Amino acid sequence: MTLFDRLILTALPLIPKPVVGRFSRPYIAGETVAQGMAESRRLNGLGCMVTLDILGEDIDSREEARGSRDAYLELLDAIRAAGIDGNVSLKPTALGLKLDVDIAYENIREIVAHAREIGCFVRIDMEDAQTTDNTLAVYRRLRADFDNVGVVLQACLRRTVGDAEALAEMKANVRLCKGIYREPYRLSWRDREIIRRNFTFVLEILLRGGAYVGIATHDEWLVWDAMALVHRLELPRQAYEFQMLLGVTERLRQVIVESGHRMRVYVPFGRDWYAYSSRRLRENPDMAGMIAKDILGLSQDRGRR
Ligand SMILES: Cc1cc2nc3c(=O)[nH]c(=O)nc-3n(C[C@H](O)[C@H](O)[C@H](O)COP(=O)(O)OP(=O)(O)OC[C@H]3O[C@@H](n4cnc5c(N)ncnc54)[C@H](O)[C@@H]3O)c2cc1C
Repeated sequence: MTLFDRLILTALPLIPKPVVGRFSRPYIAGETVAQGMAESRRLNGLGCMVTLDILGEDIDSREEARGSRDAYLELLDAIRAAGIDGNVSLKPTALGLKLDVDIAYENIREIVAHAREIGCFVRIDMEDAQTTDNTLAVYRRLRADFDNVGVVLQACLRRTVGDAEALAEMKANVRLCKGIYREPYRLSWRDREIIRRNFTFVLEILLRGGAYVGIATHDEWLVWDAMALVHRLELPRQAYEFQMLLGVTERLRQVIVESGHRMRVYVPFGRDWYAYSSRRLRENPDMAGMIAKDILGLSQDRGRR
């Protein structure tokens, strides 16, 4: 990343919200359930499963946490009614994790129980490292009663090898990603190459241990490495799936689908799009230049967006 890129990305909080909104449009399905359903139907048509996420995190009250729970219960009904090949992903802090771990557990439990009634699955996303212990604790409590629930591990965290060994033993359903949150050095690997190698190391622990893995990356090198690993282990395609975010590396996504591997696309929607969008913009290698051009009025695309 050049100094210029870094400058623009550091200034992201100062960039007007409408500009952020315009550039993050490809990453978000829209604001309503109907828009989430329409995008999911389109992706199902392209041979991709989906996981729907209602945008929002870090709420302040029990009422808001209950509101998030109710929104997910309605979303599950909408998925069933629309016949979508998909499941849901949720952020535990949106269900109350930072207020009280028991509140989050009860809210997520209701969602997982309703999902089970309709034959659906719930993925508990992983947020910043302050939430890892509580998120895994909620997951373990739920797993004692439910099979239709999974969790996420982040290859950037130094603790993850140990967590992977424990989850593999439970034959858990795990999404493995690099991890998006900026964590203190004592908790997190920083070197991109180490994070990559830790991803492959952890993936092998999970797959050899019999865990079902959602291999969540757009990094072509990791995709190749994962394909080589499942080939070496002679795993059936039902033992894992690839996962990508809406609007990211669609060409690579299609290559994976056409190679016969299962693919799930993360489809976020909702009114609370700003925090998610800012994270995506930070990860887009071309974004700094595009935003700078837009602000300076140089973008040729401007009239069309
Ligand atoms: C399905 C899914 C679920 C996730 N869930 C979580 C979670 O629960 N917790 C968590 O901490 N993180 C989560 N993440 C985010 C993840 O941790 C990474 O931050 C993100 O996927 C980028 O890592 P990467 O492996 O794609 O590698 P990178 O090296 O970041 O990206 C590889 C290449 O992909 C392209 N690319 C990546 N991002 C963008 C973008 N925004 N726009 C355009 N091109 C891009 C670029 O070409 C880049 O070189 C999830 C990711 C996915 C795919």
